[in-house]
Amino acid sequence: MQHYVERDIEKILLSKDQIEARVGELGEQISNDYEGKDLIAVGILRGSVVFFSDLMRQVKIPMEIDFMAVSSYGKGSTSSGSVQIKYDMQEDIRGKHLLIIEDIIDSGWTLHNLMEQLRGRKPESINICCLLNKPDRREVEVPVKYIGFDIPDEFVVGYGLDYASKYRNYEHVGVLKRSVYE
Ligand code: 5GP
Ligand code: MG
Ligand code: MG
Repeated sequence: MQHYVERDIEKILLSKDQIEARVGELGEQISNDYEGKDLIAVGILRGSVVFFSDLMRQVKIPMEIDFMAVSSYGKGSTSSGSVQIKYDMQEDIRGKHLLIIEDIIDSGWTLHNLMEQLRGRKPESINICCLLNKPDRREVEVPVKYIGFDIPDEFVVGYGLDYASKYRNYEHVGVLKRSVYE
């Protein structure tokens, strides 16, 4: 059966095999960097769930996982200003090494503002691991320690990423046809 998403996809940007290989490398790096440390990885709902579930199984050291849902102010195609926590993590991160797991970093505002808020909870360290990065779109400096792929400024879906809440269940990352949203 053909996947319904394929009708609306211009091209596949990253295949599931490419993603799988890169996720393996990221898992190895994280395992090495955090060995002997109290690691808690927090996935940002909902876009990171597919990436996170693959990535955590490539991390070979003890880790805790948790989730948060946030929404950026000033919706539209870009986000700016402050970030609102819609669902908070359940674990206490004080003294732990926090790794934020995100799907994509675009303007950078969401993660910039979120990091600022989370610093107040006094984790031992905070780093970001992002599957996708659009460097051309950056408006604010964000230190992203782990990046899966730098991608061009095109709207992508799949592997957890949505458009209007759909397309998350597509195994590749693809560029959405402009006709779908224009
Ligand atoms: P930022 O605050 O960095 O501008 O926003 C990042 C958020 O914008 C991501 O978490 C994601 O929800 C959304 N976003 C940015 N670019 C894309 C894209 O190409 N595809 C999808 N599906 N979401 C995107
Ligand atoms: Mg996101
Ligand atoms: Mg979204």
